[in-house]
Amino acid sequence: MKSTKNIIPILLKNTLTNKKDVFISRKKNTVTMYNCGPTVYDYAHIGNLRAYVFADSLRRVLEYNGYEVKQVINITDVGHLTSDADEGEDKIESGAKREGLKVNKIIKRYTDAFFEDLKKLNINIDKIIFPKATEHIQEQIIFIQTLEEKGYTYKTTDGVYFDTSLINDYGKLGDINTKNLKEGARVKKNKEKRNAADFALWKFSPSYEKIKEKRQQEWSSPWGIGFPGWHIECSAMSMKHLGKQIDIHTGGVDHISVHHNNEIAQTESVTGKQFANYWMHNEHITIEGQKISKSVGNTIYLRNIIARGFSPLSLRYWFLTSHYNTRANFTWDALEGAHGALFKLHRYFIEEYGVGEGIVNKEYQKKFQTFINDDLDTPKVIALIWDMLKDDNISKKDKRSTMLDFDKALGFGFLESNKKLLEMLKNKGKKLSVGELPIEIKKLADEREKARAEKDFKKADEIRANLKKKGYEIKDTDKGVEIAIK
Ligand code: AMP
Ligand code: ZN
Repeated sequence: MKSTKNIIPILLKNTLTNKKDVFISRKKNTVTMYNCGPTVYDYAHIGNLRAYVFADSLRRVLEYNGYEVKQVINITDVGHLTSDADEGEDKIESGAKREGLKVNKIIKRYTDAFFEDLKKLNINIDKIIFPKATEHIQEQIIFIQTLEEKGYTYKTTDGVYFDTSLINDYGKLGDINTKNLKEGARVKKNKEKRNAADFALWKFSPSYEKIKEKRQQEWSSPWGIGFPGWHIECSAMSMKHLGKQIDIHTGGVDHISVHHNNEIAQTESVTGKQFANYWMHNEHITIEGQKISKSVGNTIYLRNIIARGFSPLSLRYWFLTSHYNTRANFTWDALEGAHGALFKLHRYFIEEYGVGEGIVNKEYQKKFQTFINDDLDTPKVIALIWDMLKDDNISKKDKRSTMLDFDKALGFGFLESNKKLLEMLKNKGKKLSVGELPIEIKKLADEREKARAEKDFKKADEIRANLKKKGYEIKDTDKGVEIAIK
């Protein structure tokens, strides 16, 4: 891997210090990164997807700078209650009820859908570890036992809780301790809790207290039958897959006050060491000016975007036109703009700039590295690409190579387009047997044959033109139909 490391320092906005810090990895060439992942009870909406595109951009920037990145995104498939105050229903159980399915079906459906969404957004899922909470119940129990041995827990009638009053710096992330809590932002709902901020590590199944509706997911534990609290999975799985201390931990801003402060309290109480050196958070997306909410009914998923004829990567482009740490308001018009801009970039890249190998323009590359290493300033990078394209002093070949270089960090798909293009050119003029044809092309060729047999020559010609657009030349010879790559 090309190493540009240390030429321009990487600055990251760290919620822990509330400033941009110079990034220094714990180990020389490797970065460990944990991104809080989805609760798989529904499709991920475009707000959630911003969190993962942000994590992917961060990964790409670190890789661009020569680091190897060990990345974990957890799959929450139990224990995330509808309220942060450890109250309400388990989201997975309620998702199963909503769809009249067993929880394992719900978990599979939405985990698969999540992976599909990530792939469409050009996120390479093969490089990421995706641990599931339900596959780490033992690890979570052991984690809670360790906290118990160290004296941080107490039991109530509905579960085992963490006593936050024992932590001097509880709430240090986002300064929750000194501001929000003292102002009483969190309502003390559970009378048995010693402190308003205390949170559940293990919850007893309702059947344990009063026989109500039986949960589909429950496990025995030293404290009784139940299920883990939502925060404990991230502490336990991060430690298992990345070690006691990690470099970077990310999530949406909504996670700062409760979820991430609780993760810190749990992990640092067990290890006695700082959990993550850099805590990074993406701001929220609103839709047409409103908070994304099921009750408002304004939720948009990637599948809605594709159904309207937009390429999924236009969403990625739109995300990167604003800085991850500022709020962004989604509108269909804005997406249309992003779609058009990205299409134009691809067209320049392929049609105008050909396939010749040029050299990466050093001046623009330097600017690119300065912007991208400055806490991922993607809006500036996008503006820079357009400036470069308008610059007559740079040859087309060099523009092309410079775009390819930038795309390592942006992930707009030029690299993939390039591979496809080179493959096409390698096969230029090659005749293909029916078996070698992509299904879609074979279907069109069959339709054309049918149209010809029915003497519908207008339709046959239309299909020929359509095939041509897709890069295939169809010829009628004495021996039958021949198809070649144009
Ligand atoms: P969840 O599945 O609810 O745990 O959320 C998955 C990720 O999406 C978390 O990192 C959240 O902080 C983040 N998130 C939730 N809503 C939004 C939003 N409207 N905009 C950006 N990120 C969000
Ligand atoms: Zn988490």
